[in-house]
Amino acid sequence: VLEARAITKSFGAFPVLHGIDLSLTSGEVVAIIGPSGSGKSTFIRCMNMLEVPDSGEILYRGRRVVPKFRGDGQLLGLGELRRHVGMVFQHFNLFPHMSVLENVIEGPVTVQRKPRGEAVDIAMDYIAKVGLAEKRDARPDQLSGGQKQRVAIARALAMQPDALLLDEITSALDPELVGEVLGVVRSLAEQGMTMVLVTHEISFAADVSDRVVFMEDGRIAEQGSPDHVLHAPDNERLKSFLARFH
Ligand code: ATP
Ligand code: MG
Repeated sequence: VLEARAITKSFGAFPVLHGIDLSLTSGEVVAIIGPSGSGKSTFIRCMNMLEVPDSGEILYRGRRVVPKFRGDGQLLGLGELRRHVGMVFQHFNLFPHMSVLENVIEGPVTVQRKPRGEAVDIAMDYIAKVGLAEKRDARPDQLSGGQKQRVAIARALAMQPDALLLDEITSALDPELVGEVLGVVRSLAEQGMTMVLVTHEISFAADVSDRVVFMEDGRIAEQGSPDHVLHAPDNERLKSFLARFH
């Protein structure tokens, strides 16, 4: 579905990504783990071109994504990429003055130009899926952190994306609210949603993902099945990284 080839990125003179390759097949769930500053967020942002790589390519269904390009034939513009690839962030980024329902229909109405009635039907489906049907008229400041994050997930889903990128979506939450958000991610995985998730929840990563990628200093230092990467790692840095979670 989505493929990164030899992605490099520097901020000023400071290299952050040193050539990352990652290919996502349909229905696959890939968890990215690694120390703070290893480039996980920068990489996942490159995957939908929120950061433009210095070199390398992003391909969506075999078509190369080109920023500042409208897209045709073999090439794909940014707008089209973002219609197919959704993203949820650590800080929910909801519109504070809008209700839950308004937040969720915003993309379908303004980006996809869906009629409002149709957008509301789709939105209510996803709002119900994340367990917030009774909160449809609440504003974000009337919700808990876990509820806000579930709205952010519903908002991404309402665009009916082909793949979802999730960057530490539970790390700003109080511990007792983490479970409800992970529950939503787990059910998406069970329904076959293609996802990349950056997470510090190691046991959750093991549980829900098909593949775990360990990033270190802007490189993929090890990857493989959750069992292999998390329970029988070869890489010394990964071993000491994992030791911190036991
Ligand atoms: P964390 O686990 O703390 O979220 P991370 O693996 O997501 O870390 P990144 O956010 O990708 O790491 O950052 C990688 C490096 O790039 C860090 O050294 C960071 O300071 C630097 N960096 C990230 N964004 C920018 C930016 N916009 N401008 C300059 N430097 C940046
Ligand atoms: Mg990060």
